[in-house]
Amino acid sequence: MFDVARIRNDFPILSRQVNGEPLVYLDNAATSQTPRQVIDAITDYYSRYNANIHRGVHTLSQEATDAYEQARIKIQKHFNAAHPHEIIMTSGTTHGINLVAQGFTGFLQQGDEVWVSAMEHHSNIVPWQMLCERTGARLRVIPMNKNGELELDTFREGLSDKTRLVFVNHVSNALGTVNPIEEIISLAHDAGAAVLVDGAQAAPHIRADLQALDADFYTVSAHKLCGPTGVGALYGKESWLEKLPPYQGGGEMIEEVTFEKTTYAGLPHKFEAGTPNICGGIAFGAALDYLNGIGMKAIAEYEAELLAYATKNLKTIPGLKIYGEAARKTSVISFNLEGIHPYDVGTILDKLGIAVRTGHHCAQPVMDFYGIPGTVRASFSFYNTREEADRLVAAVEKARQMLA
Ligand code: PMP
Repeated sequence: MFDVARIRNDFPILSRQVNGEPLVYLDNAATSQTPRQVIDAITDYYSRYNANIHRGVHTLSQEATDAYEQARIKIQKHFNAAHPHEIIMTSGTTHGINLVAQGFTGFLQQGDEVWVSAMEHHSNIVPWQMLCERTGARLRVIPMNKNGELELDTFREGLSDKTRLVFVNHVSNALGTVNPIEEIISLAHDAGAAVLVDGAQAAPHIRADLQALDADFYTVSAHKLCGPTGVGALYGKESWLEKLPPYQGGGEMIEEVTFEKTTYAGLPHKFEAGTPNICGGIAFGAALDYLNGIGMKAIAEYEAELLAYATKNLKTIPGLKIYGEAARKTSVISFNLEGIHPYDVGTILDKLGIAVRTGHHCAQPVMDFYGIPGTVRASFSFYNTREEADRLVAAVEKARQMLA
């Protein structure tokens, strides 16, 4: 039995009111809320052992270093990476993707091909376009269909010895589709290409086993995982991370510096210039402990049930269209009311205490594909309830009556 009432007690923010109504937070795909256990880890760090890491001989510095490196190990174990040094601490998914895209500059040349999927977040499109501009490589697109699923035939037929890189999200933030990354990775590897998986939206719902997946790179953001903003992780296979050049120069990432030549530190520090988000990294570890305390399988089962319930009831509203009804989905519902702008729906929902996202969700190509300016996106987490889904449905119906 999934004890959602007990879980909700862990999240102080869930008891606040918005516009005089109890908050219904359904913008989890943008950022998740923070349980007391993670807030406590942050308070504990600043109250007891705030210090810079890796360099200090004093006790506080050693405690902070230990806690930070423990967090790296928690991330490694959670995603089943082979080594802790394959986990690069970043400021988030965007940072991780840019680090890899920048690093590939020297490995690509005119005529090489890189593939992206039709349903990527802008952060998994723009850095690769910039890479193509720098190198003369060609960007190709794995198309999608109206169900919001990727069509792999074009990809299968287009792979060749020119294919160098493939980047695809594990789960689409705009639609919730779970993409067949196992197949994409295996096809890409057969063609000799490397694969970066953007795991930002998958990580809150699916625990990726990185060794089983055999992805070359996988990126996540802590703030989608009940952790704080401004911290995330990039997994890279040791062999790739050894090959890639450093992303930024600075302190922490060096072995020896003279004015003639600098030698770089080993992994993971080669990619971690400057003082990192120490507290954020430690809190990220605490967030993974929290999620694992509930269990990722239990979370996924509960969310799947909530998704089915909310989808069924939203569909009873006349003129409501859901975008992306893939066979495998996480708890995201992207929809519009016929003839009504999503922004107007979102504004009325906010007046009723319900937080959803409206707009293109940083995935303009997906909106272009459906020929719409944007959608209303309700994204559920394991701390949401059926009663909240009911309040959403009632509020959307009210918005329809007011705006139609
Ligand atoms: N990729 C996907 C699929 C996302 O949903 C997001 C966040 N909306 C990002 C990348 C970017 O993550 P961040 O802003 O934390 O770097």
